[in-house]
Amino acid sequence: MALATTGALALAAIGGPAMATVASGAGRQTAAAAATRTAQSGAKTSAGRVSSDRAAARKYAATVKQAAAVAAPGRAQWSAPVPGASLSEAYGVADSQYAAGYHTGTDFAVDSGTAVVAVGDGTVVSAGRRTSYGNTVVVRLSDGRYALYAHLSAFEVTAGQQVRAGDRLGLSGSTGNSTGPHLHFEIRTSDVYGADVDPLAYLRAKGVGDF
Ligand SMILES: [Zn+2]
Repeated sequence: MALATTGALALAAIGGPAMATVASGAGRQTAAAAATRTAQSGAKTSAGRVSSDRAAARKYAATVKQAAAVAAPGRAQWSAPVPGASLSEAYGVADSQYAAGYHTGTDFAVDSGTAVVAVGDGTVVSAGRRTSYGNTVVVRLSDGRYALYAHLSAFEVTAGQQVRAGDRLGLSGSTGNSTGPHLHFEIRTSDVYGADVDPLAYLRAKGVGDF
């Protein structure tokens, strides 16, 4: 009996017409029926587990969404350096006029006197002249990256100042080694020349796309 039940169970587990063959005698029919019930309840348990996993996933997604809402209570966490400005030279373009051999930042086409803003919360590392960069503001961002704004015509922050995303840092210009008014903007992993990363990829990863 136990053997028959085991056999029926195994077949029931496979689930198929083989069940009819097993259920020939009355006793076997009972065993088969019990096995079927067991298999069905097993299937139910399994289905229940799947649906509970889905519920857990939904709950997790809701929690993540909630956390994001808490982190952004109406204030933008990240911004373009000049929201809406168009690009005039891309990052990484090979050019021997640069010491690195390529363009270490992204250029934004803006007239002199255009406000440039903090792309994220952070601390102003320096606001002063940096050789070919001209008047430059560097902000250490909350994630440890550095944002650099070059060729400015005026400063509106000083070193050590805390800034939040969207706060004005100064005005664009054409100081230093520049052929005309524009903002040269860099994102760096440390505040040294050549530690640059793709600024637009960085901003896009933060959800910024208005450029
Ligand atoms: Zn540039």
